[in-house]
Amino acid sequence: MEQGGIIAPEARPSPWGLPAKPVNQCSLAEVMSEELAKELQLEEERNVLPEEVLADEGAFLTSENIDTSSDAVLAQMLQMQFDKEFDAQLRREEKKFNGDSKVSISFENYRKVHPSEDSDSSEDDEVDWQDTRHDPYKADKPTTTPKKGFIGKGKDITTKHDEVVCGRKNTARMENFVPEFQVGDGIGMDLKLSNQVFNVLKQHSISEQRKSARVHDKKEVSTAEKVVDPKTRLLLYKMVNAGVLETINGCVSTGKESVVFHASGGSVEEQEVPAECAIKVFKTTLNEFKNRDKYIKDDYRFKDRFSKLNPRKIIRMWAEKEKHNLKRMEKAGIPCPEVVMLKKHVLVMSFIGKDQMPAPTLKEAKLGIEDSKAAYYQVLAVMKQLYDQCNLVHADLSEYNMLWHDGKVWLIDVSQSVEPTHPHGLEFLYRDCRNVSQFFQKCGVAETPNERELFNLVSGLNIASDNQVDFLAEIEALEKMNEDHVQNHAKKVATFQKDDDGPPRIYDE
Ligand code: ATP
Ligand code: MN
Repeated sequence: MEQGGIIAPEARPSPWGLPAKPVNQCSLAEVMSEELAKELQLEEERNVLPEEVLADEGAFLTSENIDTSSDAVLAQMLQMQFDKEFDAQLRREEKKFNGDSKVSISFENYRKVHPSEDSDSSEDDEVDWQDTRHDPYKADKPTTTPKKGFIGKGKDITTKHDEVVCGRKNTARMENFVPEFQVGDGIGMDLKLSNQVFNVLKQHSISEQRKSARVHDKKEVSTAEKVVDPKTRLLLYKMVNAGVLETINGCVSTGKESVVFHASGGSVEEQEVPAECAIKVFKTTLNEFKNRDKYIKDDYRFKDRFSKLNPRKIIRMWAEKEKHNLKRMEKAGIPCPEVVMLKKHVLVMSFIGKDQMPAPTLKEAKLGIEDSKAAYYQVLAVMKQLYDQCNLVHADLSEYNMLWHDGKVWLIDVSQSVEPTHPHGLEFLYRDCRNVSQFFQKCGVAETPNERELFNLVSGLNIASDNQVDFLAEIEALEKMNEDHVQNHAKKVATFQKDDDGPPRIYDE
């Protein structure tokens, strides 16, 4: 719905969900009927508010002669009331926080209404005076203020309360309002604004500023905002705009290497999008990934590119790697998230869980013995499938990266998965086996083999050593033997085992 060039809020899909609860208070002017506003005001008056709040509100809310015909004024009033309530609460918290302590901490900077804007407060005059000493207008526009003030040496003292001085000063101070705020050309003239008018204008300027910040910045998305940088946010918006996603609903997990969001799937012609999606945003801070170079730089599928890439692109490569690995698994029929799309370091996949609740990990699921047993056999089968059919080793397999959903074990988190011929591939497999074996033994599944037996079961190798040290030594010897072989044949194998969707490539848009 177009309204003078502005898209009505209900016509715009909110990428951040919560469509039923718009937080944009400035749009009150557009969405509120006058009756509702009056009703709200009455309700507010009826509400029993803390005494100091009522006192602070002064004439503003209780006054009967306020013109309620303008939605804009009403919106402003509500905003002011909200700000003052907020400040009153802040003052109470400040008091509680400081208690009787001699050294106190001021919460002043968190106030919504700056003391200099709050004409009701008694301490304001003092603050106002202090503030004007630093007021840039003094330096910039000495001619607009008479050289009187306190320099009057006893005679002809003009205080800051002088009507003319004050009026001129207020006019000049309008220049300090945000640049977008149209103050007209009155500043150049000898205009005198009364304190009252100035305060109303100032208040209006501030609420306009807030409004603009809200519109442009989507500040309400606090969870997403903290973990996602502006570029990532843009990518997410684009996905919503393209219709792939309907809304982004919230953060499911903030892991070491990624942040996972829940999103409602949208609809696009070319592709069926699952109703519930998970968005895995790979963190672009590199700290965690540094230790993990070995997973990727020795993976011949990515090796050639690795050395040439900047850190940002390496992160994208992790996302890409997860996508390719998931696709392989999907093809083999392993229960895992279905890839929806990949854009740079953002991977969208189907959500394992229901109604925005992610399925529990095996660690969290607290399965009974029968389910644990069933889960164990599934894990064993999946590990074998992964190894034989997908030519992959998970490399971070544990009860934390397996979800229990619909009576099945689902594998997730495969960005670090490698092919068994990776120089450390068999060591990774051994570690996976150790995690799995230990976990199911703890669950009381009597059938669980030890990690060495499990390793042999999965890999089809037949390493006979009966202790970890020898077993690992044999694994390393095998890896070493393989390495030359793999390197010599890397290209051949890569062509042979190429994924259906073409060779890995970096998405550069
Ligand atoms: P961590 O460091 O915690 O292992 P990570 O960065 O490796 O996290 P993942 O393990 O892939 O990322 O995902 C973290 C969490 O997000 C998972 O434990 C799971 O709860 C949730 N999650 C990830 N992908 C999905 C999905 N497709 N569906 C549902 N939940 C998911
Ligand atoms: Mn994980």
